[in-house]
Amino acid sequence: MTTIGFIGLGVMGAPMAANLVTAGFDVVGYNRSEPKRAALVEAGGRAAGSVADAVRGADVVVTMLPDSPDVEAVVLGEDGVLEHAAPGTLLVDASTIRPDVSRVVAERARERGVRPLDAPVSGGEAGAVEGVLSIMVGGEAADFDAAQPVLRAVGSTIVHVGPDGAGQTVKAANQLIVAGNIELLSEALVFLSAHGVDLKAAVDVLGGGLAGSTVLQRKAPGMLDRTFAPGFRVDLHHKDLGIVLDAARAAGVAVPLGASVADLMASLRAQGGGSLDHSALLLQVERLSGLAADELGDSADA
Ligand code: NAD
Repeated sequence: MTTIGFIGLGVMGAPMAANLVTAGFDVVGYNRSEPKRAALVEAGGRAAGSVADAVRGADVVVTMLPDSPDVEAVVLGEDGVLEHAAPGTLLVDASTIRPDVSRVVAERARERGVRPLDAPVSGGEAGAVEGVLSIMVGGEAADFDAAQPVLRAVGSTIVHVGPDGAGQTVKAANQLIVAGNIELLSEALVFLSAHGVDLKAAVDVLGGGLAGSTVLQRKAPGMLDRTFAPGFRVDLHHKDLGIVLDAARAAGVAVPLGASVADLMASLRAQGGGSLDHSALLLQVERLSGLAADELGDSADA
């Protein structure tokens, strides 16, 4: 039986780890907070007391952590994954982090005989629960092939997109597209509302035409109900848009709409919206037209 050390049992990691258990893997999970480890045990996995405990004896290590510094600390840091992983272990980092950091992690992993893949995901909490994530993978083709059984247990669209860091670059593009979609959907709702159009009827018909999108289908109902409980937190999308802007600058390309939406996301966060779902960008777009009620506090409690 393949043993998987799973580190980071949050919104995404918990259901992914549970799906790995369901698929028949021996899953040993670690998270900083105890309740999340207990939830994995309830789902049929085992709890580890530390990163080292999760990694020792694992054939595959999966990390699902918030940001680049978290992955650096857990993988490269003292008592981290690389200190304890046996040579030949597959290291699948499913977190969304900077492509340049991902490449450093991969390089350091190979120095220890560990086989790294950057494998960020898209599909949200619902996709993680249903095991139908889209997974964009960077790394060696042979390691990608070896990781297939693990990736297939959590995702349905799994594509090898290139060498180390390429998965993260594709994920950055994903976050650029999603943020832009939410922003334009927000503008459309403000525009329609100002004209007194029935928003539900408008969204229904827009969803059937070229303006339709997964963002519209999944996010519009919550935006119309004005419920902004996450989901995908503004804090995380703010982080991702920082990755997009840095990576665009490094490549010497302009992303003007991306830069604008990054600013709006940063502004929403600065005004207290960091823990809301990213669809709360609507509130910020409303503010631009002097429309927004002060909903940040109420929604954050939702
Ligand atoms: P989250 O904050 O819910 O989960 C992260 C977990 O990691 C937390 O439980 C936290 O306690 C744990 N953690 C942090 N540092 C740790 C450490 N040093 N040791 C052990 N545990 C530690 O975040 P999430 O929503 O699950 O997102 C995880 C990653 O996936 C992020 O990079 C995010 O951008 C990406 N992502 C999220 C979504 C989404 O819809 N939430 C979708 C796609 C990708």
